Amino acid sequence: MQFDLDVTGRKVVVLGSANGARRAVARFVRGGARVTLVATDGPPVIRLSTVRYVAAPDVEDTSGLLRLVGPAWLVVSVDPPGPLRERVAELAGHLRVMTTTEAAADHAGSVTLVGGGPGRTGLLTVDAVAALAAADVVFYDRLAPTGDLAALAPAAELVDVGKAPFHHRVEQRSIEEQLVHRARAGESVVRLKGGDPFVFGRGGEEMLACLTAGVPVRVVPGVSSAVAVPAACGIPVTHRGLSHAFTVISGHQRPTEAELDGLVRLGGTLVVLMGVVNLEQIAAGLLRAGMDPATPAAVVERGYSDSQRSTFSHLGALADDARRLEVASPAVVVIGAVVSVAPELADAAHVVDHLPAWAGALAPDGAPVDRSPVDRGSGP
Ligand code: SAH
Repeated sequence: MQFDLDVTGRKVVVLGSANGARRAVARFVRGGARVTLVATDGPPVIRLSTVRYVAAPDVEDTSGLLRLVGPAWLVVSVDPPGPLRERVAELAGHLRVMTTTEAAADHAGSVTLVGGGPGRTGLLTVDAVAALAAADVVFYDRLAPTGDLAALAPAAELVDVGKAPFHHRVEQRSIEEQLVHRARAGESVVRLKGGDPFVFGRGGEEMLACLTAGVPVRVVPGVSSAVAVPAACGIPVTHRGLSHAFTVISGHQRPTEAELDGLVRLGGTLVVLMGVVNLEQIAAGLLRAGMDPATPAAVVERGYSDSQRSTFSHLGALADDARRLEVASPAVVVIGAVVSVAPELADAAHVVDHLPAWAGALAPDGAPVDRSPVDRGSGP
């Protein structure tokens, strides 16, 4: 069982190697504790001015140990030698001082590319949460779930490398250099990205930069907005009888005629990320390539945020509707019959701004359906 304690102003003694204990020290300092590091292996390379450092007394030096343990509110054992750990626990027991243990921070620097999902903390994976909890530094993006980052990565320095769309070319190299630099210094580095790191996230480039530099790197996949944001308003990207394929494209660059032609011929669901700026060209291109203007379409803006908005339309009117409603990035565009399923699945909490005639008239098997009216309110 776990429970939270407020450590503000409390005297916390951390016992262990300076490097192994660095994360515990950083976390308790963040929490507002008065921290003493009792180092078993000499002073740390980087000293924090807010932390008191003392060398660990010998295990036989009972009075020296009592001087440390006695005034403490909590003793945290990280990686002291076994006999010292046991003696300190014994003395703390006599003095009724709380003790806890925690694993040492990793000594070998590494980079973890973490997919943060579409922005809601609950959509982080368990592995993502563990990587954040173990991080010395987190480089995070604009679209990553940043609201709870300080709590999720309590020992980490948080570095915003957020980039506005169309402005990332220059900075990418510098981000890669920083990842490598910090990992080489022995730190556990997390690169937190929105969605999945390998879906239009430049995660591949960052992985290769680390590998080229000889820095260990691992990837924690994330919940991609390509699937999750349509789901946020009840659009399944595949649906039996309606669509057995979905294609995810970036709207950042306008698709070529050959690509548009291929998309239309393939059929299924089309999901466009970064599609707001070029929406008009993409929609016009799909129409040119022969896609039915009546094809249901939707744009879901700011999925999973308090201001999530879903706009339902059809391909022929999509660009006009988006312009009229001032649809803005970040947004996921979904084009295909599956959009027609949404009003049935949506939990009415999301605003439906514009419901075309097909909504309420399409069923997966083509039969008309009787639907209860869609709630156009702004939710609970
Ligand atoms: N790697 C990310 C995608 C990065 S590209 C992923 O797998 O989700 C950035 C685009 O993702 C945005 O322009 C937008 O199209 C989409 N996106 C990401 N998060 C979103 C959100 N919460 N709501 C709407 N769109 C989102």
